[in-house]
Amino acid sequence: MSTSAFTVEQVTELVGQGMTDAEIGAHFGKIRQTVQTFRKKHGIPPAGPVGRNARWAEPAPQTDSSPPRKLTSLDEFLMQKKRAACPVCNIKEPVRTMVLEAKKKGHRQSDIIEWLQACHRITITPQDLTAHANQRHLP
Ligand SMILES: [Zn+2]
Repeated sequence: MSTSAFTVEQVTELVGQGMTDAEIGAHFGKIRQTVQTFRKKHGIPPAGPVGRNARWAEPAPQTDSSPPRKLTSLDEFLMQKKRAACPVCNIKEPVRTMVLEAKKKGHRQSDIIEWLQACHRITITPQDLTAHANQRHLP
C-alpha cells in the first residue's frame, strides 16, 4: 500500500492544525484509514476532537480480525462458575437425566442419594441437591 501521497511533515502540520484523519484524508484524496495507518506508522499523535470536529473523534479500531465470540453475560458466567462447583451438575449423563427424572417422579431425596451412592459410586449430599435446586441450575 502506497502512502507516498503525503509526507510526515504535511500530516504533522495538518494534525497540528487540529485536523482529523478523515479531514486530512479528504485533503489528499485518501480515505481516513490510509491517514490513520500512515500516522501510526510514523508515530504522529492524532488530533484531539476539537470543536466542530468532535464528531470525527477516532472511532474504535475495527481491525480486530478475531471472529465474533458468543458474549457471556455476568449472570451466565456466575452460573457456569456455580455449576462447575456443583456436584449434582457434574454427574455424568445419562445418570444426571435419571436424577432429574427421579425428582420429577417425586422420589425422595434420600432415595436418590442412596441410589447414586450404591449404583453409581457418586456421593451427593442433601445440601448439594438443595443448593442445586435453589440456585436453579437448569436444565
Ligand atoms: Zn447444579
